Amino acid sequence: MQNLKQKRDISEILHHLGEENLPFNAMSPPIFQTSIFSFDSYEDYQAALADETHSFLYSRGNNPTVNLVEQKIAALEHGEQAKLMSSGVAAISAAVMAFVKTGDHIISIRDCYTWAKTLFTTYLGRFGVEHDFVDGVDPQDFAKAIKPNTKIIYLESPTSLTFKIQDLTAIAKIAKDNGIKTIIDNTWATPLYQNPIDHAIDIVVHSASKYFGGHSDLVAGVIIGNKSDMLQIYKQEFLNIGHVPDPFMAWLILRGMRTLQVRLRQHNAGAQLIAEFLEKHPKVESVCYPFLSSFPQNNLAKSQMTGGAGLFSFRVKSHNVEKIKQFVNSIKVFKRAVSWGGYESLIYANAISYVENIPEDRISLIRIHIGLENPQLLMDALNDALTCL
Ligand SMILES: *Cc1c(COP(=O)(O)O)cnc(C)c1O
Repeated sequence: MQNLKQKRDISEILHHLGEENLPFNAMSPPIFQTSIFSFDSYEDYQAALADETHSFLYSRGNNPTVNLVEQKIAALEHGEQAKLMSSGVAAISAAVMAFVKTGDHIISIRDCYTWAKTLFTTYLGRFGVEHDFVDGVDPQDFAKAIKPNTKIIYLESPTSLTFKIQDLTAIAKIAKDNGIKTIIDNTWATPLYQNPIDHAIDIVVHSASKYFGGHSDLVAGVIIGNKSDMLQIYKQEFLNIGHVPDPFMAWLILRGMRTLQVRLRQHNAGAQLIAEFLEKHPKVESVCYPFLSSFPQNNLAKSQMTGGAGLFSFRVKSHNVEKIKQFVNSIKVFKRAVSWGGYESLIYANAISYVENIPEDRISLIRIHIGLENPQLLMDALNDALTCL
């Protein structure tokens, strides 16, 4: 096992790790846009077929461009190995499905990413895998929900709409004491601001479509864990289901990761400023940003994360759907789009997800992603649009 305590410098990982021997001393790593790899002999061919996990045979298994991304992300997360996949949802489903079978039970936080929730409620249900949802703010929620057949505790901290935080160290201990595997979606904080493996969480998943890519031009996901868990995920899920990342997408992630540190610094500073601005705004009821001192779990946030991302939500005082519509339609600079993590600012009103019968507590909930624009420009845009309410 690699020495986790001997932490590498983040910029060294992002800019140099795995790039020591690039062909022709190229500055930018080449894209190995190839499906297959050839062998000099029958013997080499046979050896590769016998150990597909560790050989360059076919790009549905390994590809050097993909593996370079994996090497960097494993190091960033203080994990032994990483596997890049074709989407964040592919990473979530592969990580979960590798460790359950019919009759098993999963405990998940209630506010997890929509398609993780659907995986538990519909897909896995078809195969006789049970689940229970818990709030998760109190670690005892998990302890109380454990059954003899519980195999996985699934976390996302903070959650990406309500920004609830789970106490990683406490939950990992409860899980370990009961022989349960822990999986966390760490997309929001990124490994730059939170390293769940250091808190004894077993497996980390990310949507790399967000900050790793960082430019709203790719969809990808990644799983990080120890060698034996990663081997199980690779052999059982990845090779069978084929969530294949393509080399060009991997290369775009490498390119995006070059600026991950500087981008995050800007997202972080902008979000903090704008969260504080919104908190004081007369049209705003409350702001959900873990690094506001008014945030109910601010101390826990500071104890397990070193910074915050550009995504947060707030509640406006108005519960009038027509006015919310006007607000969303009139706002400048912010683009009306799903997802987040790119260079640009985005807005999503939770009400948009309902055609009718919007739950009362969802009408006033607005989520924004603070991009890399000048924060003053964004505050002016918010301020102007909030006059609709
Ligand atoms: C976007 C997102 C996902 C899903 O990732 P895709 O790359 O879109 O499949 C999972 N978790 C969180 C927190 C996300 O924001």
